[in-house]
Amino acid sequence: SSAAPAGTNSGNGIITQPPPPTATRESRIATHSHIKGLGLADDGTAMEMSQGFVGQRTAREALGLHLQLLRMGRHSGRPLLLVGPPGTGKTAMALAMSQELGSKVPFCAMVGSEVYSGEVKKTEVLGSSFRRAIGLRIKETKEVYEGEVTELTPSEAENPLSGYGKTISHVIVGLKTVKGTKQLRLDPSVYEAIQKERVVVGDVIYIEANTGAVKRVGRSDAYASEFDLEAEEYVPLPKGDVHKRKELVQDVTLHDLDMANARPQGGQDIMSVMGQLVKGGRTEVTDKLRREINKVVDRYIEQGVAELVPGVLFIDEVHMLDMECFTYLNRALESPMSPYVVLASNRGMTTIRGTEYDGVVGGSGEGIRSPHGIPVDLLDRCMIVKTSLYSRDEIRKVLEIRSKIEGIVLRQEALDRLADEGEKTSLRFALQLLTPASILAKTMGQTEVGLDQIGELEGLFLDAKRSTGVLRGMTNGGGG
Ligand code: ATP
Repeated sequence: SSAAPAGTNSGNGIITQPPPPTATRESRIATHSHIKGLGLADDGTAMEMSQGFVGQRTAREALGLHLQLLRMGRHSGRPLLLVGPPGTGKTAMALAMSQELGSKVPFCAMVGSEVYSGEVKKTEVLGSSFRRAIGLRIKETKEVYEGEVTELTPSEAENPLSGYGKTISHVIVGLKTVKGTKQLRLDPSVYEAIQKERVVVGDVIYIEANTGAVKRVGRSDAYASEFDLEAEEYVPLPKGDVHKRKELVQDVTLHDLDMANARPQGGQDIMSVMGQLVKGGRTEVTDKLRREINKVVDRYIEQGVAELVPGVLFIDEVHMLDMECFTYLNRALESPMSPYVVLASNRGMTTIRGTEYDGVVGGSGEGIRSPHGIPVDLLDRCMIVKTSLYSRDEIRKVLEIRSKIEGIVLRQEALDRLADEGEKTSLRFALQLLTPASILAKTMGQTEVGLDQIGELEGLFLDAKRSTGVLRGMTNGGGG
């Protein structure tokens, strides 16, 4: 049978255990949690309101068609370019595409300006985003104990070292398997895993034989309280009789593999976890390491142990990239390991960054101008889709969906007022007022958000238009 490496380092040389996700990237997607897909009917037409999406039908239908091309393997490195005003759902649409491709398809969103971090090379930032958007599905055959938990008793012992408090000396898990109920006497480290997975009696879990990793796989409907909890034999892990071999599938991204292998010490102990937090995504991952990982990945794919899952890489404000980045992008798109790239811009004709000072004697120094600040050769390859501004009614619907998701009760008048505000400014601005409004309501001792809170917020925060208006007044010497 095929045997890919287990969770940690193995004979094959690479580590396949993914590190914990980084918070910033997670939160960037949180505002789109209501988006579940493109909301298309079977014939490809966009439904007015479906899967969290409201309006923007032409763009959604165009994306649906593009998806069909992807599924047929006909995209051949052609990126999608979304152009439209801020807050018109470009990010949401790219995310929806990855969801349409499957729940385990990676999605990586970045903003063009991210490449100018100062610490890391521009192409390096792009490179790691590319690898975040390429998934690898690794199939492993592992020996596991699987069954329904009938008993969970941590056995506490006096800790002789600290002199006080109690530590877990072992844990007994009653496991009802197809062969009958048995008790496993497990190591304290397994107890930690059990707590992390929030395992309770009645859950179906499996415990990996050699690593002790615990996974909650569901809940038993058949669970009833009348189990015979009498002690049976104690089976110590990992020598106990293995209940069954299980085909496990692990989804990781190439970036996960890079990170895990850049610091192979990265264990689950507190110091390693802290080290990962402080360094964020900025640990040295060298090109050499990536090439080595690619080689192993290629071998796994050849052996049928792993499968490449191209995800979606979304680059917002693509006009912020410069010539060097565009050259990199062009090359990366040619690679057989390329994700589907979705670019977005809210600019029209603008200068391509990095061409301003082209060194031409007597040159204007103004640089090359191009639509969306994208070089024409790349632009030529793009499929371009336009997103348009929302109507008041559409804004109102999105506000309704978001307030439900965030558990905020909005009075009708408040919803109307927010929709007006959104129409005047932008959907984004109206959405951003939701959470502060609910906090205000709470501090005023109210359970519902009404006109009072919206009115107060309008006095506190400025949208982009009003804010430039205020500044203009100041520079004109008026001060108001
Ligand atoms: P920018 O150009 O500023 O990056 P954007 O076009 O990417 O903006 P999003 O971030 O996708 O805009 O949209 C702003 C918010 O509105 C998000 O929370 C998004 O989920 C929501 N949203 C946008 N369009 C829709 C829509 N058609 N239906 C439902 N929700 C939407």
